[in-house]
Amino acid sequence: MALALGMCETPGCKAVASLQCPTCLKIGIQGSYFCSQDCFKGSWKTHKVIHQLAKGENDSKSSGEYNPWPSYHFTGKLRPYRRESRREVPERIGRPDYATHPTGVPLSEQAVRSSAQIKVLDDEEIEGMRVACKLGREVLDEAARVCDVGVTTAEIDRIVHEACIERDCYPSPMNYYEFPASCCTSVNEVICHGIPDKRPLEDGDICNVDVTVYHNGFHGDLNETFLVGNVKPEIKKLVEVTYECLSKAIDIVKPGEKYREIGNVIQKHAQSHGLSVVRSYCGHGIHRLFHTAPNVPHYAKNKAVGVMKAGHCFTIEPMISQGSWRDEMWPDNWTVVTTNGLWSAQFEQTLLVTDTGCDILTKRLEKNGQPHFMDHI
Ligand SMILES: [Zn+2]
Ligand SMILES: [Zn+2]
Repeated sequence: MALALGMCETPGCKAVASLQCPTCLKIGIQGSYFCSQDCFKGSWKTHKVIHQLAKGENDSKSSGEYNPWPSYHFTGKLRPYRRESRREVPERIGRPDYATHPTGVPLSEQAVRSSAQIKVLDDEEIEGMRVACKLGREVLDEAARVCDVGVTTAEIDRIVHEACIERDCYPSPMNYYEFPASCCTSVNEVICHGIPDKRPLEDGDICNVDVTVYHNGFHGDLNETFLVGNVKPEIKKLVEVTYECLSKAIDIVKPGEKYREIGNVIQKHAQSHGLSVVRSYCGHGIHRLFHTAPNVPHYAKNKAVGVMKAGHCFTIEPMISQGSWRDEMWPDNWTVVTTNGLWSAQFEQTLLVTDTGCDILTKRLEKNGQPHFMDHI
């Protein structure tokens, strides 16, 4: 068989080419031929660009890492990685209004946004909340089972997504104001709303997984921070104290208590351990709507409106940081990080106010209700 001879790559040179660029050969680029060493040297400046392009693409493909915002100054060590493509929810599963809105706007929430009125749920609605929250808990327990060194947060998102669908649940975060995944995964200095991606979890990381499911017209919302491998003692302490902040806040929930008291309890405990309370993100009312009245700040001396009544459903979800409470957002408009790059933890439960106190609708049914991180301590 004859060897096909091409033309020299140098613009304007029509000579038959027989020399192939050695760099192209090495990195597997086909068809870079020149007629002579002179033409090769003369074209070098423009030719070498294709080596850089090829290498750059290969590097980012193999590691999954990339920097989509070259001018953004990261506050800590964590970086975004590529994401997996969006997941589908089967048609048969009922979904909230924003799921099909072109920009994910929850019109039903916006219709009552200005109202501070807190819905008192009737028996049927309470039963709806109990079921949604129990299913949400099962889904978070599935995430806890796989969260480990080397596992990507995208893999956790896939497990959460599939666990939702198995239980006839729509994963509430999906398309909520266009959120691109089925849960939030917030690693290390990420305070909340981290987007699952292809970064493998590393030994010593902490990873919060925030799950909300929508089932039969109701949302159930909870999160836990998990320890990944061997976590430094001071970080374990951060996670422990954050969990205690949530527990202490839940202890005061009963009819007649003011919503603004919750923040006093949380900040007192966080501060006693030299930790700070994130101020920009709050707990929220939840039922047929994902986020609604009341607004439940976690910091002290807040001006939250409202008094607890039997039949109210809401979340408490303190975010506790080392050092400063200040936060900023990555240019993806979701990922909230500490401004000093120090780490932050969070725990969340959905609560129902009862006649005598409250029911933790999302409580863990195994191990006396203790959070997963305690299983390994
Ligand atoms: Zn949540
Ligand atoms: Zn929430």
